[in-house]
Amino acid sequence: MKDDSYDYAKEFEERKKYANLTEACPVCGSIVFEKRLDDDVCPVCGWCDTDIQCEDCPDEDNLENFMSLNQAREAWKRGEKVH
Ligand SMILES: [Zn+2]
Repeated sequence: MKDDSYDYAKEFEERKKYANLTEACPVCGSIVFEKRLDDDVCPVCGWCDTDIQCEDCPDEDNLENFMSLNQAREAWKRGEKVH
């Protein structure tokens, strides 16, 4: 389970120094991942990119992310934080 008190943005600053980031977050579209579905957390919107909540199962909620992928996309569009 991801930890909302953890500073993922700071971790991302470190990671992008050596990682080749080419993959987009499925929620906010930012290029923040080296590889998809690797349980990394997007530093922009807070989505955890996990294969148990992906495009194949966009309505699964309450797993790594409290929101489902579809709920997270709606929240992001409304300008809300993804949980
Ligand atoms: Zn994102």
